[in-house]
Amino acid sequence: MSYNRDNFVRIKNEYLDRNRRAREEAEARASEINNLFPEIREINNEIAGYGLRCLEAAQKFSGEKLESELFRLKKRTEELTAKKARLLAEKGYPSDYDFVKYKCAKCSDTGFCGINMCDCMKQELIKAGIDSSGISALFEKMNFDTFSPNYYDSDNLQKEQIESVFSYCKNYADSFNCNSENLLFVGGTGVGKTHLSVAIAKEVTEKGYDVVFKSAQDLISDFEFERFHKSYSDVSPAKTDKYYECDLLIIDDLGSEMTNQFTVSCVLSLMNSRINSGKPTIISTNMTPDKFKTYDERIASRLNDFTPFLLHGKDIRSLRRDKWRK
Ligand SMILES: [Zn+2]
Repeated sequence: MSYNRDNFVRIKNEYLDRNRRAREEAEARASEINNLFPEIREINNEIAGYGLRCLEAAQKFSGEKLESELFRLKKRTEELTAKKARLLAEKGYPSDYDFVKYKCAKCSDTGFCGINMCDCMKQELIKAGIDSSGISALFEKMNFDTFSPNYYDSDNLQKEQIESVFSYCKNYADSFNCNSENLLFVGGTGVGKTHLSVAIAKEVTEKGYDVVFKSAQDLISDFEFERFHKSYSDVSPAKTDKYYECDLLIIDDLGSEMTNQFTVSCVLSLMNSRINSGKPTIISTNMTPDKFKTYDERIASRLNDFTPFLLHGKDIRSLRRDKWRK
């Protein structure tokens, strides 16, 4: 699993900031009470010297004598801490007023517990992943819970077919990994291609994978921008990098974009790169195999690496997987 690179860098920096701010705010509160109440300042100074006094004791004593000295120092510090809490309460302050208050006590707002990423940072990365998937607004409307095979109940065969596609997709999302297979949804408008793609995107994103969902038209616009409109002095990362790098790319409605040599070469290069590196892609389209061949023979042939699902009525119901094989 790889979180979106930009999100990771941004969130890691936010954690560094958050951790620094929590410590600075605690220092400011400590100065405030130290200035207002000299008796608390004295206690704080003594507590701050605890570590040093333990070291001095270790140099001076050994064995039982050292143990009893360390016990005495510990006890003294506990008494001072309790006294300070009492004094703060008397003056109307919470007893932990000058403690560092981290949003996450588990990782002290560092995002990591040892070498492992803290759950709080994982959650933030998942949330950011949902935003950067490009379709967060659709997740509520289009998910596995809101998909109903009953829409198809006018025709039992269609209903059976959509139920089996649905459970295949659900299973695909549940067991998704960076080397999952490629899927191809074929069918006319309103047969559930986008709904199933978004439902998969939602589940896979929530697992922490980097998912990008784009209409073919928007995807091509980004390639056009990089090729024809980006200034040579602009060294920012290409808008199209994410299409090559993400864990799961979903191209919605392939074939709806204006087709020319440039658009075809972009789609082909992207498909080749993702297939060669074993990264899964989902494509939805209303083009039948024959139409695909007119769109581009090479792209049609790369679709042999996809598992096709035909979501529709009579005209394409008879198509079977082997029809996509050469
Ligand atoms: Zn945490």
